[in-house]
Amino acid sequence: MWSHFNPVKIFADVSLFEVLPEYLPANGALLLVTTPGFTRRGLTKLLVDKIDSDRMLVCDNVTPNPDLTDLESLINEYRPLNIKTIIAVGGGSALDTAKVLSVAIPSSYKNPLTETLKDGKSQLWNESLPVICVPTTSGTGAEVTPFATVWDKKSGRKHSVYGESVFPRYALLDPSLTATLDEDNRLYPGLDCISHSLESLWNKNRTAASIANALFSLELALKSLPETMKNPGDLDARRNLQHASLLAGLAISQTKTAIAHSISYPLTLYYNIPHGLAASFTLKAILRSIKTDIFVSEGRIEEILQLLSKYDLPKRILQYLSFDDAEKCLPEMFLTERGNNFLDIPTTEMVRAILLNSF
Ligand SMILES: [Zn+2]
Repeated sequence: MWSHFNPVKIFADVSLFEVLPEYLPANGALLLVTTPGFTRRGLTKLLVDKIDSDRMLVCDNVTPNPDLTDLESLINEYRPLNIKTIIAVGGGSALDTAKVLSVAIPSSYKNPLTETLKDGKSQLWNESLPVICVPTTSGTGAEVTPFATVWDKKSGRKHSVYGESVFPRYALLDPSLTATLDEDNRLYPGLDCISHSLESLWNKNRTAASIANALFSLELALKSLPETMKNPGDLDARRNLQHASLLAGLAISQTKTAIAHSISYPLTLYYNIPHGLAASFTLKAILRSIKTDIFVSEGRIEEILQLLSKYDLPKRILQYLSFDDAEKCLPEMFLTERGNNFLDIPTTEMVRAILLNSF
């Protein structure tokens, strides 16, 4: 038996400034959650002027890897303001912040995140504000997934806010918004996208629908990621990478991620490694060692290995930590829900060998 549920209404190949006003409620406060970069480029002002500056609140101090303490203070700041809709414009961190606010603001708890996450009860979220997700990087797929990552650096933990109420209401894909990304912000989310496809394929929860989404995502990403790296002005390539990200997002919205993400979390928590890099530097080693059929042809696997080799991931990882540092995190890397999604049951020896072959 398998099921498939994804309620996000998707509009691809649109212009944000033209379509956004159509999807806003007629009355009530709106909250724009975005990054300092979006404001610096003058786009926040453009968006606020286009909509209705009197009812638009702006939260533009989202930083990478949203932390529990910072999120809790945002919740307390915005909760009394009777917000009706949240608009999230940015990379995975902005989208995750908005998704967390959407379920935490209506919650009756005093400190909703701290009180809910401490017992791992994130599935208890049952009310949410509508969120319109507008990704400005291509790869996280956060615009169509029912989860958001919350980092608790103080107690050294990573949480997932999860549940059907965490799904955004709309995903608006505007390829023009990805034109100004620097090299790392094109490469790391792009690698995250490839990781999502593979993670959903070597996943115990895979279905016919998730496999179909993942395979076409891989086909698009393998071509469009190198194209956007070489020529960021290539609009068709950027559009295809956005589609790849969306499809991989749809795949993991059903399966969740698996071993590569499980390995990545302590590395991001303790060494601040960008998510896309941490979640992809092990893919080659996993691909070479996987024993289960993942529906990817030999030729396609070779293409993936070549693409991953092209970007010198071991060298990039070594800027953050050594193999010995990573090995110390071993117990935290696979005895997890995500680790258990992997089709080849992970053991200490297996994960150690994956790490060793990834440096
Ligand atoms: Zn990811």
